[in-house]
Amino acid sequence: MYKKSRSFGLGAGPIIFMLGIIYLNRGMKYSSLLRNHAFAGGKWVSSETNRTFEVRNPSNSAVVASVPDMNEHDVRQAILAAHAAWPAYRLLSAKERAQLLRNLFEIILANREALAELMTIESGKVITESLGEVSYGAAFIEWFAEEARRAYGDIIPASSVDRRLMVIKQPVGVVAAITPWNFPLAMITRKAGPALAAGCPIVIKPASETPLTALALASFAEEAGFPAGTFNVVTSTEHSAIGKLLCEDPLVRKVSFTGSTRVGKILMAQCSQGLKKITLELGGNAPFIVFDDADVDAAVKGAVASKFRHNGQTCVCVNRVLVQDKVYNEFVEKFVDAVSHLKTGDVMRPDVQIGPLIHNRGLEKVQMHIADALSKGAKVATGGNTAAGLVFQPTVLVDANSSMMIAQEEVFGPVAPVFRFETEAEAIEMANDTSYGLAAYFYSRDLNRCIRVAEALEYGMVGVNEGIISTEVAPFGGVKESGFGREGSKYGMDDYLEKKYICYGGIR
Ligand code: NAP
Repeated sequence: MYKKSRSFGLGAGPIIFMLGIIYLNRGMKYSSLLRNHAFAGGKWVSSETNRTFEVRNPSNSAVVASVPDMNEHDVRQAILAAHAAWPAYRLLSAKERAQLLRNLFEIILANREALAELMTIESGKVITESLGEVSYGAAFIEWFAEEARRAYGDIIPASSVDRRLMVIKQPVGVVAAITPWNFPLAMITRKAGPALAAGCPIVIKPASETPLTALALASFAEEAGFPAGTFNVVTSTEHSAIGKLLCEDPLVRKVSFTGSTRVGKILMAQCSQGLKKITLELGGNAPFIVFDDADVDAAVKGAVASKFRHNGQTCVCVNRVLVQDKVYNEFVEKFVDAVSHLKTGDVMRPDVQIGPLIHNRGLEKVQMHIADALSKGAKVATGGNTAAGLVFQPTVLVDANSSMMIAQEEVFGPVAPVFRFETEAEAIEMANDTSYGLAAYFYSRDLNRCIRVAEALEYGMVGVNEGIISTEVAPFGGVKESGFGREGSKYGMDDYLEKKYICYGGIR
């Protein structure tokens, strides 16, 4: 679903243009979704101090809204409300929880365009991708509405005749979710969907850059009929104090975090105090390998889609393009041509593919990585400069090597460094030479190689002849310093359920 709604098509100009005109004429709908209070215990609340912070549009720095800057006291109230809601919520039947999620799914879709506009305005994501994210994010709610009814346990054959052994699954309790700005909706629904399906109330702390989509979702959850206290959104700039509270408060039974590896390590250390369950969806350093038996045109298309999705600001975006000697020149020529045609501009236009980076720090990181790469022998094949404001030109660097920062760190911007390799073994070694292990991609038409390489890559997810692989039906997650736990799929509820073994004895 997500893939279909993306638009990196490089030949549908007139249709896209017409759609653009129609779209622009429809006017903006997002203002109906703006909220300036947080949502806790079923009420729209301010902070205790009445302090607020501004949410700005990265395209023009304009203030979009102000939301409560909550402190530990405020967040503690949300935790207490979630805890109070738990006993009744866990007793709802699976069918009742499924129906609530189904309601939420339908309300999200009914507000698809307004929600996409809001997301674009607070995150700078181009509108076609925001529309895609609404479908993608909603799909997790739909999926877990279905999975709610399938949290099966086990009956175990007993070792003596007077016993019956059973395993049931029960909700872990109050869940805290801390989410990043790059998918303001989907990173929340991937956690809220399984938590609510399992019978766990949730307290969500969205990124301070993108709290508005989270608050819109809270208003949808209220409309969907979720009981007070089961769905809470707390907004704050005090991320260290709030994160510590969510990790250390004994009423919170599980933390689910998506964000950087640096912060993931801090949260894991804090959770260790109470031996709290934690799921970590962290950073990546995705290799994209093009073997000499690949369909080069397909590889170019896949590399552009995967690298430049949300401007290079996703955890599964290609970070390193590795190309085998024989097809290096052909790939680079076609890749550079495709990248140089990516369109920057007004993110509300459906034909625009590249928007602004989220903030100045992001822009500075891109500039620093390019300067470092150039000082170590890379060359700019296209792009290389700031276009306007926070918009950076889509960039390809050739002659990249492993000594460059960009080989080891997430660039999180529209820059693709291209490395050269000679043998399959060398490609696998280069691909695995990183502390991360989230997503990897490769292109080859040799079935044996496809099986060998897919199994040898030390990553949680591998795309073979495919550059966009995320879907609610498959397990999303990483290995090594990309974290642990899986979101989506039939495994996605596991982290929100405890298995309880019950032994019935003395049976005659
Ligand atoms: P981040 O700095 O780690 O922030 C993520 C969230 O953590 C935000 O809500 C942030 O709050 C909060 N936070 C920051 N410092 C904290 C602290 N000391 N204690 C508790 N919470 C803290 O990451 P980001 O820059 O927003 O997001 C980009 C990162 O997310 C990249 O590394 C990307 O790869 C990763 N990511 C991973 C996945 C995945 O599924 N594996 C998906 C998407 C993104 P504030 O907003 O208030 O700072």
